[in-house]
Amino acid sequence: MKKIWRSSIDQITPYKPGKPIEEVKRELGLDSVIKLASNENPMEPSPRVIEAITQAAKCVNRYPDGGCFYLRQALSEYLSVPGENLVFGNGSDELILMALRAFIEPGDEVVVADPTFLIYHIASMIKGANVKTVPLKGYKYDLDSMLKAVNKKTKIVFIANPDNPTGSYVTHDELDKFKDAIPPDVLVFLDEAYYEFAAGDDYPETLELAQGQQKSFIVARTFSKAFCLAGLRVGYGVTRSDIAEVLNKVREPFNVNSLAQVAAIAALEDKAHLEKSVDLVREEKERFYELFKSLGLEYVPSRTNFILVNTKRDSQKVFDFLMKKGVIIREMSAWGLKGFIRVNIGLREENDEFFRIFKKAMEEISLEGE
Ligand code: PMP
Repeated sequence: MKKIWRSSIDQITPYKPGKPIEEVKRELGLDSVIKLASNENPMEPSPRVIEAITQAAKCVNRYPDGGCFYLRQALSEYLSVPGENLVFGNGSDELILMALRAFIEPGDEVVVADPTFLIYHIASMIKGANVKTVPLKGYKYDLDSMLKAVNKKTKIVFIANPDNPTGSYVTHDELDKFKDAIPPDVLVFLDEAYYEFAAGDDYPETLELAQGQQKSFIVARTFSKAFCLAGLRVGYGVTRSDIAEVLNKVREPFNVNSLAQVAAIAALEDKAHLEKSVDLVREEKERFYELFKSLGLEYVPSRTNFILVNTKRDSQKVFDFLMKKGVIIREMSAWGLKGFIRVNIGLREENDEFFRIFKKAMEEISLEGE
């Protein structure tokens, strides 16, 4: 039959989500499975969040508040950003789609790094944009080369800071230089999904830049990671009020569901829970580094809740070995990172189990080429 969909869709390799934990258990006959594959937070959400969702569950017969009125108020106060500069999404993923929907005309270009968060590329292709990819340099964004890739057709430059899958970050000085050079009519999509884990030292604080009139920036953040709400899907963008207005025009009218809205407000109120989640990642990450060092493996120092590591072995074999023992990690050859895996930080006991099984995998699987 004649294809009736847009030809650009045929070029897209779909994003491959992992299998549900329950399904992995059933298939492999395992009692317990540890999932360290999707950069989720292993902690349960704050008890305040559970309470808020429980209350709000009685009202799901109603549509959610399409303007996120109370969440906007709460976040405005939390960030010290006027409400008119905030845009909400069904996860920060949706902000990527909204930006493309609002900015891309056929034949326009976007600039993305390679490898980086796959959704930039996939969503850009869905929108029919031409995607220019710029390789990372030493596992880091190469902003100079990304600037060189910008031309008159460029509408959006995507920057994941910190990056996924490497965990590396663009420093304050690097971003400052980039900001001065980027033309004001190019939208810079600064994806700070892992902001709460990354903040501090020379990591840039970007909310003023995002609201400023000189350039066109959107800073996207999420409740999925440090705030432990990945299943509810809520993220936000900070940007100029005129850009916020445009993005609001192209979003679905009820894009953030009502449970997500009350949960996000409750999560913002529980500062101790947020601190606990950030501390857990910081402390446990050191133990991962120690393990990799002791095994003589190269890893990328990370400002996120995950680590990219070169196993120096067939990473599919490493993945399979771990999976059979009930530990799910991400195998990275599809990103062009042969031999690499990405593992996210779990609870202390989960990490102990990962360490035990990973060491075994390193003993039993031979080094590549030997
Ligand atoms: N950006 C990056 C760099 C990510 O790694 C992720 C999640 N894996 C997201 C955005 C999307 O997060 P969410 O849609 O859950 O807010």
